[in-house]
Amino acid sequence: MRNLLIADRRPSGEGAIRVIEPATGEPFEEVAAAGPRDLDAAVAAAQAAQPAWGTRTAVARAEILFTLADVVRAHAEELALLEARNVGKPIGDARWEANHVADTLRYYAGAADKHFGETIPVKKGGVALTLRVPLGVVGLIVPWNFPMVIATWKVAPALACGNTVVLKPASLTPLTALRLGELALEAGVPPGVLNVVPGPGAAIGAALTAHPDVAKIGFTGETATGRAIMAAAARTIKRVGLELGGKSPCIVFGDVDIDQAASEAAASVFANAGQDCCARSRTIVERSVYPRFVAAMQAAAERTVVGNPLEETTQMGPVISTQQRDVTERYLAIGQQEGARLVCGGDRIPGPGYFLRPAVFADATPGMRIVREEIFGPVASVMPFDTEEDAIAIANDSIYGLSGSVWTNDLKRGLRVARALETGVLSVNSSSSVHLQAPFGGFKQSGLGRELGLHALDHYSEIKSIYFETAP
Ligand code: NDP
Repeated sequence: MRNLLIADRRPSGEGAIRVIEPATGEPFEEVAAAGPRDLDAAVAAAQAAQPAWGTRTAVARAEILFTLADVVRAHAEELALLEARNVGKPIGDARWEANHVADTLRYYAGAADKHFGETIPVKKGGVALTLRVPLGVVGLIVPWNFPMVIATWKVAPALACGNTVVLKPASLTPLTALRLGELALEAGVPPGVLNVVPGPGAAIGAALTAHPDVAKIGFTGETATGRAIMAAAARTIKRVGLELGGKSPCIVFGDVDIDQAASEAAASVFANAGQDCCARSRTIVERSVYPRFVAAMQAAAERTVVGNPLEETTQMGPVISTQQRDVTERYLAIGQQEGARLVCGGDRIPGPGYFLRPAVFADATPGMRIVREEIFGPVASVMPFDTEEDAIAIANDSIYGLSGSVWTNDLKRGLRVARALETGVLSVNSSSSVHLQAPFGGFKQSGLGRELGLHALDHYSEIKSIYFETAP
């Protein structure tokens, strides 16, 4: 049994979470679940630790975060294995993620003493200056698809800015968050600076959001949950950072290498078994190459190696749970009822675990539910377009605006389309949307605020403006 982490205490919580391994469907570990008293204790511990952490110099905080990055790097294999088994993601991807966690900690350690205020020439003539000050206690609520990565995207800038943290991982995937908390103590992060409280979102996540002593909620998850958090945060005028759902477009013009674009388009929706907020699940293809593209995407989907996440050659593991498999299968049925053509995949792989073959729908249309709603499973919907304007209109016809790709060898067109798309993150001739040094976040109902890059630091600090009178 893994217990909660509150300061340096390990309370056994008020309930238990049975963690299932999605590749086998079997119980894997048991984790304590926080109750309301545990949550209050975690917030109190974070509040008690904040003044000392927040008034250390940024350089001193950075030194501890650099040490934590090294400790994480030294435990990368252990963290990768935990994540691969808990989420069902291929071990190679999980290794990349564990090292990305260390990189993220190093980045924000390095940034801690480079985030500073300014002096401002004001009319009155004295000296006005701004300071960056911590918010206080921040509550971080994260999902199950990239548990340790998304937790670290929030924990690292929050700690670098002098805040203390109560981290609530998803109930399906609490393991690496708890391990990260332990490693933080080992690295010299003072007790109470990072507290980890797994527990049911509807109770513990909601209580964290409502807590009067929490200054900000940093949340990643579904748009519906984001709405509830934003509404609840209004009562205490809490700051909120929201990274929410997506239904990202991949626009392919006919002037590119079709086989390469189709392989990339497939990988950009089937990676992490489609459980990726940036998944390019709407593939929008110029009509002149549409039949060839659909055939190439089918071939790419059929080539995807689906299987045991711990095998080095595996490219796609299971979906996270029976519930996620049911949701995906429901959308596979809806797509066929709506008249889209299921070209390949969607069937279960016989045996234990929640494995589905990657599915490609062709001849989808913008009004279909499979095109409008986030499925969060390995399902691509492909549709044709005639003109550049059509492609942009189809891509922008969504409540979401997180990510996307444009494939073209005409650079002027690439830039024109990239500027016209309503998304926070975009890649041209690439599927890569996450860069530690660049801001990441959504337009429209995909979110509020930005993570990563130096922008994240602005969201974990307040600006204090001070005027010094210099006249006698
Ligand atoms: P959920 O919104 O269901 O859960 C996310 C977290 O919120 C979990 O820790 C959950 O706890 C908690 N939670 C649930 N209800 C509440 C509540 N009422 N108040 C406070 N916290 C609550 O999302 P999923 O875990 O299903 O994650 C998938 C979603 O995340 C997708 O929509 C995906 O697009 C989005 N996502 C967005 C990203 C982005 O950067 N924009 C990146 C990755 C994912 P519990 O687990 O106990 O339910």
